[in-house]
Amino acid sequence: MSQDFETKGPKERKASFGFAAVDESAKQGLVNAVFSRVARNYDLMNDVMSGGLHRLWKSDFVSLLAPPKSTVPYALLDVAGGTGDIALKALEVAGAGTRAVICDISAEMMEVGRARGARFGDRLTFVQGNAECLPFCDRSFDAYTIAFGIRNVTHIDTALAEAFRVLKPGGRFLCLEFSTVEVPLLDTLYDAYSFNAIPALGALVAGDSASYRYLVESIRRFPDQKTFMGLIENAGFERARYRNLSGGIAAIHSAWRL
Ligand code: SAM
Repeated sequence: MSQDFETKGPKERKASFGFAAVDESAKQGLVNAVFSRVARNYDLMNDVMSGGLHRLWKSDFVSLLAPPKSTVPYALLDVAGGTGDIALKALEVAGAGTRAVICDISAEMMEVGRARGARFGDRLTFVQGNAECLPFCDRSFDAYTIAFGIRNVTHIDTALAEAFRVLKPGGRFLCLEFSTVEVPLLDTLYDAYSFNAIPALGALVAGDSASYRYLVESIRRFPDQKTFMGLIENAGFERARYRNLSGGIAAIHSAWRL
């Protein structure tokens, strides 16, 4: 007897995990395993891989955020905040009215952040959560930041919609992320460095090349500057713009919920 129907259920949608295509439902678990492995060496590896450049990019990012220096209440949400670089820099330059919440899916990354941020007492809090389903009420924050985080989420559009939802009208969206190099020759050099040196440094310093290969591959899978700006606008944000850092190795996208 012939069988004229499909016996398997519908195929699951795929997501990219670096250069690999994985079932959408599997991606976040794979990402979480990466950050659980790298948490202890994360800050050191950032310095080693970038020669300290990430510190300049993050300083630029926080300067652009410009949290108030006064005692006026100001609520910052740093999503995928990990070990705390952005929230800690923001609290260092802000006045006493600024409070920051780091929301990250990885308990291990936030554990490092907690130790680093203890000096800020109750001005800094940590909440475990997923950027795609934030555990906060609508219109709760004056600013939403995400640095080197959105590349890791499974559905970028859902994370952006969540950013829009939790911002107050008049709230600021700022994203720092690896992007597409727009300077000829630098792109070739950067490719050679990232595909060869970064996994090797991961092996040498952290005993883990696979996680750093994921880093390099995930950067290549992330939309370029203009495409990402379009996604930000699609989420409802206005006055979206971007600024390249180091020729487009990274970029800062900013926008407003008006
Ligand atoms: N923002 C920090 C920085 O700039 O150093 C950490 C960036 S680290 C490359 C990426 C962070 O994104 C990790 O801490 C990881 O746990 C977090 N992350 C990945 N997927 C996430 C998700 N769906 N929701 C929230 N955080 C997520």
